[in-house]
Amino acid sequence: MKVLMSACLLGEKVRYDGGHNLLYHDRLQELDIVPCCPEVDGGLPTPRIPSERYHDRVMNHEGRDNTRYFKKGANIALDLVKKYDIKVAIMKAKSPSCGNEMIYDGTFSKTLKKGKGATVDLLEKEGVKVFNENQLEEAFAFIFAK
Ligand code: SF4
Repeated sequence: MKVLMSACLLGEKVRYDGGHNLLYHDRLQELDIVPCCPEVDGGLPTPRIPSERYHDRVMNHEGRDNTRYFKKGANIALDLVKKYDIKVAIMKAKSPSCGNEMIYDGTFSKTLKKGKGATVDLLEKEGVKVFNENQLEEAFAFIFAK
């Protein structure tokens, strides 16, 4: 089964600050992973000024409206999901693109609120089951039960 995964969790240096979030787990090698970074795919550079979702927009720390880049990246992730018939994703927690449970609240004050990143929002509406890197055991249970 193919699994969509945030590219930064695979060690790709695509984070807003030019870093990555490489994830280690023995069982990751058993997965057929399709990487994606919605923010880079959507046209934003690396490094980039961080953005947060605010109501129906995504704004960066300097007040620039980046919504169109986030929408484009989400649609590219959705295209991958459709192309490879992907049913499950492991995405980076708290990201304005990839977060699946909590995201920053749009005030750039490190305040989290319940919510989803723009890409995860779209993928879940299309029926993709999304886990974050702190939910790997649940993800493996879901994937290998199939
Ligand atoms: Fe990682 Fe997603 Fe942010 Fe790209 S958009 S750096 S994949 S959390």
